[in-house]
Amino acid sequence: MVRLENLKFGYSGTGFRLRFPEFTLDEDERVAIVGPSGSGKTTLLNLIAGILSPESGLIDVDGVNVAELSDAERRRFRASTIGFVFQDFALLDYLSARQNILYPYRITPALKLDAAARDRAEALAVACGIGDKLDRHPTALSQGEQQRVAICRALVTQPKLILSDEATGNLDPASKERILDLLFAQAAEAGAAVLAVTHDHELLPRFERVLDFAQFHEGVG
Ligand code: ADP
Ligand code: MG
Repeated sequence: MVRLENLKFGYSGTGFRLRFPEFTLDEDERVAIVGPSGSGKTTLLNLIAGILSPESGLIDVDGVNVAELSDAERRRFRASTIGFVFQDFALLDYLSARQNILYPYRITPALKLDAAARDRAEALAVACGIGDKLDRHPTALSQGEQQRVAICRALVTQPKLILSDEATGNLDPASKERILDLLFAQAAEAGAAVLAVTHDHELLPRFERVLDFAQFHEGVG
């Protein structure tokens, strides 16, 4: 599902460098990423999603060389293939929770907003425990509720690759387990791979592999 080769990246004007000689994520694999703050975990997810471009090296996602796509193609590819739970949620305050969840359909004409998609949004929200809050705006939701909206938005398109950046960070222990259950159930149903940054060490045994990030970066940001 994901293949990285000789990946190199640096933010201009900073000493931070990310080097990734080799990494493969299989189609139905679930891999956790751990590592200290500032070690480049979010940067790697952004590279895989095509939000950032590498200096050199290969990023292959579902057989597509992400770097070779135009900006428009990359956005389309991302919307149809990848579900991304952002570390800061990235919800839009002027939209309700429901509209936020269905946002990928709004910006991607290739995705069809039909009754099935609306039903999926509803079912995901119920499974996440926010079924009764779909008409609220993010400003009227707690951090944990906003996080669940972000998770529903990442899953509603049934992506083949789920990238999750500390998606369980703001939740209580029982909710963490429940959200991970949901993430994994969705992934199993859609045959999706999961790459999840997490600081929740108690969740690590549930992943097939753990990638420790401490070794992949140099310098400080
Ligand atoms: P992590 O997710 O592991 O905490 P990040 O990938 O967010 O780490 O950041 C890695 C390093 O890159 C940090 O030193 C951070 O300060 C720096 N960094 C992150 N985003 C930017 C940016 N847009 N411009 C410059 N430096 C950045
Ligand atoms: Mg991060």
